[in-house]
Amino acid sequence: MSGLDVSAHGLVHIYRLEGNDVVALSGVDLDIASGEVVGLLGPSGSGKSTLLNLLAGLLRPSAGRLRVGEHDLTRLDEKGLARMRASDVGIVVQGAMRNLLPYASPIDNVRFAQRGARAISRADLPDPHEVLGLVGLADEAKTPLERLTPGQRQRLAVGVALGCRPGLLLLDEPTSQLDHAGRDEVLAAVDDVNRLIGTTVVAVTHDPEVAARLPRTVTIRDGRVGAEGRRGEDFAVIA
Ligand code: ADP
Ligand code: MG
Repeated sequence: MSGLDVSAHGLVHIYRLEGNDVVALSGVDLDIASGEVVGLLGPSGSGKSTLLNLLAGLLRPSAGRLRVGEHDLTRLDEKGLARMRASDVGIVVQGAMRNLLPYASPIDNVRFAQRGARAISRADLPDPHEVLGLVGLADEAKTPLERLTPGQRQRLAVGVALGCRPGLLLLDEPTSQLDHAGRDEVLAAVDDVNRLIGTTVVAVTHDPEVAARLPRTVTIRDGRVGAEGRRGEDFAVIA
């Protein structure tokens, strides 16, 4: 399966709380081509996670337009969103263990993720061993999670998100709790996944060094997407 493209125009998201509304995104325009790897860079509170959750179909836009592949996310009902999540989008939320079943083996973690996809929409899922291989964990299929390094756990979280071979992979701060070696492992795994199966990737980070290692960086500030750029061009904006 090849990667899905993404198109957002005038995208607005407002969290409605008792008494006051929080405008998390205020008019985001963003186009991502099929197979691109994009780093979404911005300070804490700038709206990165909100945008990622909208792309995942976990939140609904308050206004504007949002399309992922053939899915018009402003029109899909809950059932349509659930189907899209199960077959086309993989998300890794911040903190590797929040994506994993702590007492199941790596291979069973992937199998469990596939069960949900199969129940909702897909029969043609990849071999779970092949999925572990993609993220460099072929030899750790049965290793208890507590014996994996933090970098390995994060790569497993990516593998779990890839269980249904999604066209769009969304990563929220995938390297924020890792040392340099772990960070490099995760970035290499993401690069492999993109090269080998063509998945479109959006990785959120607040770390300019991580963003600079990705082919394209988009900056976000106060709920707006700012300067777009290729490698390095955005440092002046963020500094
Ligand atoms: P980032 O991931 O860049 O740190 P977020 O998308 O988490 O930013 O947050 C953007 C803004 O929306 C912030 O002002 C944050 O406080 C607010 N926000 C995030 N999640 C919620 C929520 N569930 N309810 C209310 N406000 C929220
Ligand atoms: Mg966040």
